[in-house]
Amino acid sequence: MKPGKKLITLRGIKDLQIPIPKNVNLHYDGFVEDISEHSLRLIADYNNLTPEKMKQEERIIERFKSDPFVCGRLHTFSINKKINNHIFLKKSKYFDEDTLNLAHEETHFLDYVLNLSCHQLEPMEILAQDILDRNNRLTRFSEIEDEEVRADIGGIHGLSLHKGNIYHPELFRSLSYPLAFKIWKKSKIPKRENYVGIGVGKINDWLGRVRQ
Ligand SMILES: [Zn+2]
Repeated sequence: MKPGKKLITLRGIKDLQIPIPKNVNLHYDGFVEDISEHSLRLIADYNNLTPEKMKQEERIIERFKSDPFVCGRLHTFSINKKINNHIFLKKSKYFDEDTLNLAHEETHFLDYVLNLSCHQLEPMEILAQDILDRNNRLTRFSEIEDEEVRADIGGIHGLSLHKGNIYHPELFRSLSYPLAFKIWKKSKIPKRENYVGIGVGKINDWLGRVRQ
């Protein structure tokens, strides 16, 4: 592992280990009654928001309150060079939805760490490699513009690792899930026996794009 990094193990994207900068922490706050209220509690605990940041946060919380689909959040606080990330969820009626939401927020975290890290793309490349290793699928996150769709693809991966149902109708109610699901379905690479006709060059080309 590169110096200045530490390993963390994700829970939604089951057992995936990711090296992250030492000054970054990830806290799992679990299920909460109300996403907005938990955010407000964290803001009060950290007590370090500038008035401008506070206004920005109030706008986010207002949006959350009016959106019935918000069922999880990654909330980040910077304090004395430390970056503390909290993941929390509102419990739904379904295991599948809760598991997807957890892995979804973890993927936002990886996407966020990606922006912090000087080794660009690293955490999302590790996720893409894990999707290839454990789900035999090729994912090009850099070609997916919408961060919510990227997060849902990490979510689907996590849900499948927990043997959940990625076809659960409730999941398709969110705006981003149908597209993420479509990309997921298309990303399957052929079984090894089907490789023969296409030639090794093509397979190496596919794999190379993920592994480079
Ligand atoms: Zn999201």
